[in-house]
Amino acid sequence: MASFLCRDCNLVFEDKKAIKKEYHDYIFGPCEKYIAYCPECKGECSEKPVPKPGKAKQATQVECGSGACQGPACSRFQ
Ligand SMILES: [Zn+2]
Repeated sequence: MASFLCRDCNLVFEDKKAIKKEYHDYIFGPCEKYIAYCPECKGECSEKPVPKPGKAKQATQVECGSGACQGPACSRFQ
């Protein structure tokens, strides 16, 4: 189960029915991410960013810059 963050309500919620959304990044091309709808405002929310404590960002880590890109799992890298 993934956690999602609504930036409008500042609400973190969990959703079992995450929707896989493919989108076209302006810079990196096709990407995909999971979204869910906020129980409060019904707005579209992205997955809550998970901080990786004690792990410095590695040079090999790639993101498409959207903040929600799954890095190597992003279709751009497949
Ligand atoms: Zn909301």
